[in-house]
Amino acid sequence: MSTLSIAVPLLDLKPQYLALKPELDAAVADVIASQYFILGPTVEKFETACAGYCNTQHAIGVSSGTDALIVAMMAMGIGEGDEVITSPYTFFGTAGSITRLGAKPVFVDIEPDSFNIDVSKIAAAITDKTRVIAPVHLFGQMADMRAINRLAREHDLLVIEDAAQAIGARQNDRPACSFGHMGCLSFFPTKNLGGFGDSGMVVTDDAEYANICRQLRNHGMEPKYFHARVGGNFRLDALQAAVLDVKLPHLNNWHERRRANAALYHKLASEAGISRDISLLDSGDLQNGIILPTEKDGNYHIYNQFVIYSDQRDALIDHLRANNVGCEIYYPLALHEQECFRLLGYKRGDFPNSERAAAMSLALPIFPDLAPEQITRVVEVITDFFA
Ligand SMILES: *Cc1c(COP(=O)(O)O)cnc(C)c1O
Repeated sequence: MSTLSIAVPLLDLKPQYLALKPELDAAVADVIASQYFILGPTVEKFETACAGYCNTQHAIGVSSGTDALIVAMMAMGIGEGDEVITSPYTFFGTAGSITRLGAKPVFVDIEPDSFNIDVSKIAAAITDKTRVIAPVHLFGQMADMRAINRLAREHDLLVIEDAAQAIGARQNDRPACSFGHMGCLSFFPTKNLGGFGDSGMVVTDDAEYANICRQLRNHGMEPKYFHARVGGNFRLDALQAAVLDVKLPHLNNWHERRRANAALYHKLASEAGISRDISLLDSGDLQNGIILPTEKDGNYHIYNQFVIYSDQRDALIDHLRANNVGCEIYYPLALHEQECFRLLGYKRGDFPNSERAAAMSLALPIFPDLAPEQITRVVEVITDFFA
């Protein structure tokens, strides 16, 4: 069969569902039979499994990754007058949560190769109002946590890992979320561990933060109908927990398949002569090629997204889509340039690496159930574009 007829979606969740359908359907049916939908034993079972997976003492199931960030920062008492250092090149939820609590996001530019916060630039952003450093482990690769923790200790700051895209990513064999004071996970369906709807998790080794988070997710209630603090409805429901508990034992295998797909992209792109070194990025001319994502020393990348650079990004996207290859821009406008953050006073040029990533990057299909022929097809279509 000619590869011409092969369509490659950016993401197809159906094969994963079909492979686990009997267990998933049974787990959902059990929750329905119990009629116990909010928190309760199914949620507690998944929390224990998730804490174990992240190598942390406590896990608190919440309604989304965004709510995990909100609950974690509320537990730390972050609010009006506080500054939180984070990346301007991330999903909106990170900076949005900081802002919703009345605090101010302070952006620090990213490194071009990992797309993660450039730790060498953090110290210059610390003021006497800084309370938290909130690195984002973007696309499934961890930011430099040893350096971030060192800075945090020196300046007496707290650390929250936004690991929404990085559950199971590791650095020097330690999992994401086991470095900071708290870690936040999302189980949005497109993440490596995805539920059948919205849900998230806060994980921590700190028993006091864990207790406060547990109260905050349920209106600050403890004991029942007595409220020492004002929280919200940030509860995890049992249907999501049941689904996630079935999927978690398979997660490491899915990570490995994503990594094998990434390796195949590298092999095929290099054979086709379209793989370029990151050192060409500053020249602005990628010489009819693309820059593929790499894994930094000591990191175990879980490739939630496989994001390349192209100096002809928008035309390449048109060509991919015309050939039935799915792709997406994560993210087309850095956060410091978003209209809602105009009051923060940033301007174009403030974070050049983030702005360039927003202009030149695009995500290719990487999900675990991709067939090798589909990856071959993607590389063929890209090679054809430059020919
Ligand atoms: C997905 C995501 C979030 C938010 O998670 P939701 O579950 O969609 O609320 C936050 N930060 C990052 C980096 C994300 O990718």
